[in-house]
Amino acid sequence: MRFSFLCMGLTAMIAGTTATAHERAVEFPDTADGSVVLAADLHTHSVFSDGEVWPSIRVKEAHLDGLQVLAVTEHLEHQPHKADMPHPDRNRSYEVAEEVRASSEFDLMVINGAEVTHDQPYGHINAIFLDDANALLVEEPKQAMEAAKAQGAFVFLNHPNWLPHMPDGIARLSSYHKELIAEGLLQGVEVANGTLDGHSEHALQIALDNNLTVLGTSDIHGLVDWTHDAGTGGHRPMTLVLAKDASQAAFKQALFDGRTVAWSYDDLLGREENVKAVVDACLSLEAQPAQRNYTVISATIVNTCPVNFTLLNQSEETFQNTGDVLMVKRNAETPITVRTKTGEGQMALSFDVLNAQIGFRKALSTTLEAAIPAE
Ligand SMILES: [Zn+2]
Ligand SMILES: [Zn+2]
Repeated sequence: MRFSFLCMGLTAMIAGTTATAHERAVEFPDTADGSVVLAADLHTHSVFSDGEVWPSIRVKEAHLDGLQVLAVTEHLEHQPHKADMPHPDRNRSYEVAEEVRASSEFDLMVINGAEVTHDQPYGHINAIFLDDANALLVEEPKQAMEAAKAQGAFVFLNHPNWLPHMPDGIARLSSYHKELIAEGLLQGVEVANGTLDGHSEHALQIALDNNLTVLGTSDIHGLVDWTHDAGTGGHRPMTLVLAKDASQAAFKQALFDGRTVAWSYDDLLGREENVKAVVDACLSLEAQPAQRNYTVISATIVNTCPVNFTLLNQSEETFQNTGDVLMVKRNAETPITVRTKTGEGQMALSFDVLNAQIGFRKALSTTLEAAIPAE
């Protein structure tokens, strides 16, 4: 595996932590077209804006969580620690994080970013892959977006269903956002945000309707472990990026191409082709030979991903050992006994993947196939 070194227990390398990297590593198999699946958190804070930790903790958390990409995105305008930390250079948080990553030799990409922070109708907008975050600290919000574009940044709308901005919890684009999209100044939208219970199927539909990249982020301010039970089965919301390879150039291109899936709790959200690519790489079916003259066949659904799946059987075939709703546990095998027609040939089972959303309240459908061995 690409990150198998994580299994060697890197606890000793990170002083003051008790969890091992092994039990919380985020590993997804490559997809059928050969893309690697990179786990990215593109929205985080430290004491350089309104977060509660030094940037070094962000880097160590990301390493422990098995992420491949971490963006540092301090609020530019919202600076509650300013009296203690004047923060004249808005790139400083990134520089501190990158120094820690480099000296630790973590296999982690750290990316410079910023959160441009205004009231509605502008809202909060992140720009990542910045050369100079200071250039975005300007009076006029749209000028900041133009400065981001001049640096080749990837720009996305944050938590569009945030209650202080949207009291009914329904994500909507303002005319300002529509203007940014039309002018090529906004490329993505968060459909999951870990700080604000920000799960939004409305934002997913906005992404599909406006050709925006689908993102899940932690927007972490405190500690990931305290907020998301990381290390005991939980994980921060993040974005799975389907890239040609693990380079920063391929990662950035995949973001601009919309090759992403947001992962929050056990929910996967995104464009159908991307969600299907990830789910089909996670799940496979294995069948056993028929016993005696029985046409009921023992089979196993193999899940090689750290996501629990909820499957609803839509096949003609029914199961001898369970009803139509299957709970397929993460990184585990789930046995089923299938009432087939003949007990031989190819078995094809169709499911709705209830935790995989490809549109507004619309679940992914997929088919798992296996040959029934002759003997
Ligand atoms: Zn925000
Ligand atoms: Zn934020």
